[in-house]
Amino acid sequence: MMCANPLRMAEQLDIINRRASICHIDIMDGHYVKNIALSPDFVARVKERISIPMDVHLMVEDPDDYIDRLVDAGCGYISVHADVIERNAFRTLRRIKERRCHTGVALNPSEGVERIRNYAHLIDKLTIMTVDAGFAGQPFINAMLGKFNQASKLRNELGLDFLIEADGACNAESFAGLKTSGCDVVVVGASGLFTLAEDLDTAFDILERNWANA
Ligand code: MG
Repeated sequence: MMCANPLRMAEQLDIINRRASICHIDIMDGHYVKNIALSPDFVARVKERISIPMDVHLMVEDPDDYIDRLVDAGCGYISVHADVIERNAFRTLRRIKERRCHTGVALNPSEGVERIRNYAHLIDKLTIMTVDAGFAGQPFINAMLGKFNQASKLRNELGLDFLIEADGACNAESFAGLKTSGCDVVVVGASGLFTLAEDLDTAFDILERNWANA
């Protein structure tokens, strides 16, 4: 949603609700990443408009400060970054679960999948960042493709069933690699969806064609 047009939000949400399976909402606090985007209040308003699950990707220094507000706002998944929960991983993930919300953990491109091994059983979705967190418009990091395979090996080894998601520059150029990478969920933003056409329904048609042809 950070790549949606803020002046056409209601209209775009209606189309997203009809055509996407999950609504991915990036929250940035200006500290974890040097950018600011969206908020728990925004999430609460979005919930009034859509029925598909909302997945909030927290790029913030203190994710614990956001959990209750996001659950109250009706969020389906709360994803936190592995590096900021390092010293509180079990407490933070259990707190999200106790509030009957799905848990997600995001790994930056510089981090390996082994980082989540000890708490993997508490995760419903693993997000593998395919660009550095914080800014749209970066090039897809091809070296990340091998990480989806490593994540699915870890999932099999531990007998778990968390989803594996790709986030960052997922578009016509990277779809072919993503299709064979073993990821279950693909997040599309500016280059994958919103800039494909002025009209978002048309942009979705192009996205679907790009994915089918990749
Ligand atoms: Mg994201």
